[in-house]
Amino acid sequence: MTSGVRHSTLEGRVALVTGGASGIGLACVHALAAAGAKVHVVDVDARGAEAAAAAIGGWAHAGDLTDPAVIDALPDQLDVLVNNAGVQHVAALHEFPPEQFARIQALMVTAPFLLIRRSLPAMYARGWGRIVNVSSVHGLRASAYKAAYVTAKHALEGLSKVAALEGAEHGVTSNCVNPGYVRTPLVTGQIDAQAEEHGLAADEVVEQVLLRRAAIKRLIEPADVADLVVWLCGEHAGHVTGASLPLDGGWSAA
Ligand code: NAD
Repeated sequence: MTSGVRHSTLEGRVALVTGGASGIGLACVHALAAAGAKVHVVDVDARGAEAAAAAIGGWAHAGDLTDPAVIDALPDQLDVLVNNAGVQHVAALHEFPPEQFARIQALMVTAPFLLIRRSLPAMYARGWGRIVNVSSVHGLRASAYKAAYVTAKHALEGLSKVAALEGAEHGVTSNCVNPGYVRTPLVTGQIDAQAEEHGLAADEVVEQVLLRRAAIKRLIEPADVADLVVWLCGEHAGHVTGASLPLDGGWSAA
């Protein structure tokens, strides 16, 4: 028996990763390809999607996932679907721009719903499928000023559980991964903004502001999230479904 994480091979499997041009999505693209999967990379950033797909011999699809017509044009013969694309908007609830709220729900709730809906028939026909939803500690806990994001991630948790219940008899699992703060452009942008707002150095923002509620005062690396995503796609994880797996440095334990 070998030691370490037992990543069963994804040889012959086809995966699709949304938001695959950057951050956690890009790490998932690389980790899935390294495990043997052929990967479709979907992103609004066309050049980023092309670069990510070229690096692993996959396929790039450029498009804005808030547009259902873009989703209709994506491949539907998938074994693995990773719902990852997401954005943040920080504003007080009483001032939160309604159009930003609606756009975030469209990208982070409706697009995963449409993609799951579209992918299930082929997964059911083959009797096997893995849906991994990149949620957040904010799918389990709230933070002030993130109304749209917290709402969307909590909704994604519910969607993931329904997919788990319906998929069970067809060999399809659905799970959420729930990272705390991960070192990606989504977060480095927030660090810069908060450093300016609080008059703090970047490392002070990370420890005192972002990781205030985490026991481990270290940003998570995208590859660590991607390893958990690939683990969920293995044969060994067939009984893990409807779960939400925190990688949050102990935030949700407190
Ligand atoms: P990122 O900004 O590095 O990457 C997000 C990707 O999504 C980008 O490539 C972007 O172009 C793409 N995207 C954005 N809007 C899109 C749209 N309308 N259509 C298609 N693609 C679009 O961000 P990240 O930190 O890697 O975040 C990825 C996911 O992880 C998000 O769902 C985020 O909520 C979640 N998450 C991130 C953290 C973190 O700390 N970074 C923590 C928990 C959860």
